[in-house]
Amino acid sequence: MFNILNSTRSFINWVFPVACVCCNKVSDCSVLCAKCFNKITFIDTPYCGKCGKSFTTDISHKTLCTECFNETRRFDIARSLFVYNLYARQIIVRTKQTGDRNLIQKCCYLLLIRYATLFKNINAIVPVPSHWTRTLVRGFNPADVIAWELSLLTSIPVIRKLKRISRTKYQHKISKAERAENVKGAFMWYGEIPSNILLVDDVFTTGATLNECSKTLRDAGTEKIHCVTLASTDAR
Ligand SMILES: [Zn+2]
Ligand SMILES: [Zn+2]
Repeated sequence: MFNILNSTRSFINWVFPVACVCCNKVSDCSVLCAKCFNKITFIDTPYCGKCGKSFTTDISHKTLCTECFNETRRFDIARSLFVYNLYARQIIVRTKQTGDRNLIQKCCYLLLIRYATLFKNINAIVPVPSHWTRTLVRGFNPADVIAWELSLLTSIPVIRKLKRISRTKYQHKISKAERAENVKGAFMWYGEIPSNILLVDDVFTTGATLNECSKTLRDAGTEKIHCVTLASTDAR
């Protein structure tokens, strides 16, 4: 039976070759070829105790990164699966453009294995919302797909009562200083608030969006906020 399945898969790959999301070369796996997979930096210690960003060697003696030390983070902790480098960027682009469930499912599985304790006692998975006009154009919100895949793996329900009430500029198109201001007051929670929330997004850069969402959740009365993202930039 196993051989029949393997042969079928080989036949399908032969008819519809699978391209690596990074280098676009035909790969015998479904997401990344082995060469590109090896260039993904999965986050491991040392990382910032608050935002989970990977430390470069010269600041590894610290427990918090400079940004978490200097700025108020409204979430309790955040963790990411891999460093947002050139190769990881291809995974994020694919996530944003196609909502590739196979790819997202694998990343979520790895997130769950890597940070199992983060999911303990969580009553709701909340995706960072995009404005409805953007969801309409794209057809989906990438954070929703990540949230649903995590929910399938953990049986924790997804609650989509956090809404983006204003159409903000794209965060990656503006300076770091403008980002917090850009998302200020952009979110609203509707309805009963769960006590322990897992807030989900695709990338953590400055953390301005996750911070503003967390502020909205805190103001609505939630107690614990853990954040997970697929990728994050290096700590500074
Ligand atoms: Zn490749
Ligand atoms: Zn940090």
